[in-house]
Amino acid sequence: MVRGINASAGIGIGTVAIVGDQQVAYTPFQPEDPAAEVKRFENALSEFSAKTFAMAEELRKKAGEKEAEILMGHAVLISDPALTEEIKKKINAGMCAEAALEAVLDMFIDMFGATGDELTQQRVTDLKDIKTGMLKTLLHIEDLDLSNLKPDTILVAHDLTPSMTATLNKEHVVGIVTEEGGKTSHSAILARSMEIPAVLSVRGIVSELHNGDQIIVDGIEGAVLIRPSDSQVIAYRKKREAYLEEKRALGKFVGKETRTDDGKRFELFCNIGTSAETAKVLEYDGEGVGLFRTEFLFMDRTQVPSEEEQFEAYRQAAEGMRGRPVIIRTLDIGGDKEIPYLGLEKEENPFLGYRAIRFCLKRKDLFRAQLRALLRASAFGDIRIMLPLVTCVEEVREAKALLADVESTLEQDGIQYKKNVPVGVMIETPAAALIADLLAEEADFFSIGTNDLTQYTMAVDRGNAKVSYLYSAYNPAVLRSIRHIIKTAKEKHIPVGMCGEAASDPHLIPLLIAFGLDEFSVSPAAVLQTRKIIAAWDSKKASEAAQHALELKTEREVAEYLESLY
Ligand code: PEP
Ligand code: MG
Repeated sequence: MVRGINASAGIGIGTVAIVGDQQVAYTPFQPEDPAAEVKRFENALSEFSAKTFAMAEELRKKAGEKEAEILMGHAVLISDPALTEEIKKKINAGMCAEAALEAVLDMFIDMFGATGDELTQQRVTDLKDIKTGMLKTLLHIEDLDLSNLKPDTILVAHDLTPSMTATLNKEHVVGIVTEEGGKTSHSAILARSMEIPAVLSVRGIVSELHNGDQIIVDGIEGAVLIRPSDSQVIAYRKKREAYLEEKRALGKFVGKETRTDDGKRFELFCNIGTSAETAKVLEYDGEGVGLFRTEFLFMDRTQVPSEEEQFEAYRQAAEGMRGRPVIIRTLDIGGDKEIPYLGLEKEENPFLGYRAIRFCLKRKDLFRAQLRALLRASAFGDIRIMLPLVTCVEEVREAKALLADVESTLEQDGIQYKKNVPVGVMIETPAAALIADLLAEEADFFSIGTNDLTQYTMAVDRGNAKVSYLYSAYNPAVLRSIRHIIKTAKEKHIPVGMCGEAASDPHLIPLLIAFGLDEFSVSPAAVLQTRKIIAAWDSKKASEAAQHALELKTEREVAEYLESLY
């Protein structure tokens, strides 16, 4: 048995499929027979074109004409004689096909990259995609088709990118194991929302396993059993049944209000990544959406979703929630959420770099389209807008000024929208926590993003297994910060929620009750469990627990104390 981080609860028993590293490394060589090397290039070219046309056909069915056209464009572009002749020339001059391809495409990438306008930037993205695709074809690297997996598959990978996790066919995936990532990495968040058991940060697991191996993923304990014995399989089947039974028993909390034992009422919202997930929110009786991560709308595609497309998604979320609140966060990209077609440069410190609100305020063209789509959708439900990664008052003012400007264009165009849509601020940086009083003057509500607040307060990368021992909201520094943010919001009379993963941590619930949090936002699958735990607490007892926890000096003491309460 090997151990890792229990990132998504449940037991999965199944067969390993290893998701390969997308590396396309090769060693350049000088071909002995350049003519044969040219032939190898031509064969790869036909294979790549055929594959690309087939994928375009698939995409036409799934996503529509426009998306498919981009892929068709790839096949046409790489067959352009201006490119192929240049590549062949280099092969004849003594380069291997891989090196010749790379040299020629890189030249065009640099050339287009230098101009910087949006259209040529798109060409750069296309050329990069073509380069990777062609190199994989030349090197015979097969991509695992995540949308077409065998039943009872357990995905094993070095790391799953959020976009990979978003495309996988969840019907057939019964578990996820990775070498990287923590409880709040986006793969973990998605695994929980899809209710797939996941264990992350398991060192060296990829090299220990082969495709087709049997394994068990215990997402409750954070354990992985490699090639288990028959008796282990039987024991874990029982454990899986017990877990599922416990889940079914939570059904009695459907339709109940979220109250403590002594009647204190809380709002219990959900985190979602797509508008379709509102169905799940209602199924689990979520009282609203506390965080719609719109970045997923921008992933797994080759260009920015149009205003129209975004409007449709936001309207569907608003209507799907049948009038209940839907807090939609504006684009929060960067950090571990990459969107290749935006052409963002690699940064030394992506979590501290050009991302989220910082990116949106520079790319006002994109931000405007999103705000316009959000305002238009506000006519169809109770939409509220939330700004991520705020660190200063200016960012909120600038975003609100842009929103006001977008409102006036809607007025001019005679398009309906709701006036005074609430604008909230995510408190997820130490800067925002420290100026919570100032931000409260600008914002209609707060939502505490403990995933990032923990990362930035503790100066610990939320996905780095080596320092994950520091990544805990039980650290006195993080607890004090949370208490301060809630207290400030109360003093300033604005509502305060929490949409980070800490909101569904059973151990923290008494503290959040005591601090006076107004709204918990958790994954749909965690709603009933959270409601059950809140119902089990009495406000007075919760206050005593919070007071004691805040007197403790170390993370370990806090963890042990909170655990002892159960
Ligand atoms: C957070 O940081 O707590 C949060 C909810 O946002 P994300 O996990 O998407 O960064
Ligand atoms: Mg965040």
